[in-house]
Amino acid sequence: MKRLLILGATGSIGTTCLNAFRSSLVDGIEISGLVSSGNRALYAIGREFNAPVFLAGGKREDEIRGFIESVSPDIVLNGVSGIAGLIYSDILIGMGIDIALANKESVVLGGRFLLDKARKNGVRIIPVDSEHSAIYSLLQSHSAERLIITASGGPFRERHDMSSITVSEALAHPTWKMGRKITIDSATLANKALEVIEASYLFSFPPERIDVTVHKESVVHSMIECADGSVFALLSVPDMTLPIISAITGGSCKRLLRPLDFASLTLTFEDWDRERFPMLSLGYSALGSGGAYPIAFASADEAAVNAFLDGRIGFTDIPRITEEVLSSDWNIAFSSTEEILSLSEKAGKMAEEACSRV
Ligand code: NDP
Ligand code: MG
Repeated sequence: MKRLLILGATGSIGTTCLNAFRSSLVDGIEISGLVSSGNRALYAIGREFNAPVFLAGGKREDEIRGFIESVSPDIVLNGVSGIAGLIYSDILIGMGIDIALANKESVVLGGRFLLDKARKNGVRIIPVDSEHSAIYSLLQSHSAERLIITASGGPFRERHDMSSITVSEALAHPTWKMGRKITIDSATLANKALEVIEASYLFSFPPERIDVTVHKESVVHSMIECADGSVFALLSVPDMTLPIISAITGGSCKRLLRPLDFASLTLTFEDWDRERFPMLSLGYSALGSGGAYPIAFASADEAAVNAFLDGRIGFTDIPRITEEVLSSDWNIAFSSTEEILSLSEKAGKMAEEACSRV
């Protein structure tokens, strides 16, 4: 039996994974441990799966490492939300444990530094984000010249007046039910920016060879274009069970999803609106600028999203504040996780300060 530790077990990714176990969709894997931040619902989940639990909020790094050691996992699902997920990816890489990675912020902040460290330690990072999971599986059998990442477009794909958007409108995603941070990021398209950066690092593609297309049905999870012009896509009903379970099993043989009903499908693709969704342009430009720009982008965004969720700033302040933070000089090299976290903290504080002026 392969042993699985779930980080973020009370969240959207964690719950989808646990539901797959509840529905007996997973063979040959046992849950060896469960982690959340402070949500005490974890205790009941631990009893249900007969697995040790750990509330990690406010805990020291050595205490977290100690819990991970005590449950000796073969693979860990990192479903922690936001920048906090980086610490876990870094600890796991240091311990030589494979990661099924939903936490995109880890790759955006850690970049090549984190991935090189994983390679040196023989750690496999298997993407769980649906777009990256699709590209990862398509690249097993083809080599690509261009990656085409699909975006649902979020709840405001057709909205013209962006200035009056409320928190509850932004939290109402049309196709995916996810945690609050990623749902707001999906509404601003910051999520797609994070995904472009994540794809660039994971698959070693420069930004000019990564495109985004708005595909509101969320059935095509992403595409790759080969040198001869052929395009391969991965299609399925929109359900995170597939990318999560295939990452932890290495390709599940069981049917995980209901079949697509082609007779009732209409698939549409359109360009994204640069004016209404500046976060995606800012993400591309942060990636192109290199250095610590992606760290500054993700950290400013996270601080601004928290301020928006708290009602301290408006929806259109999120890109404005992120752009303000990015206008500083982030052409800074880093060579340790401590340096990454300190750059992230600096960008977060700058964003906080900008939020307090709104
Ligand atoms: P949620 O907000 O639903 O869940 C977050 C989970 O992380 C909770 O279990 C929370 O615990 C836990 N957590 C937060 N901070 C810490 C911490 N410091 N230490 C330990 N646990 C912590 O988020 P999602 O499940 O939606 O997203 C998780 C990650 O997966 C994000 O990076 C997101 O971008 C990515 N992702 C999510 C998708 C989705 O469909 N939801 C799709 C693709 C990627 P507690 O309940 O105690 O607060
Ligand atoms: Mg995604």
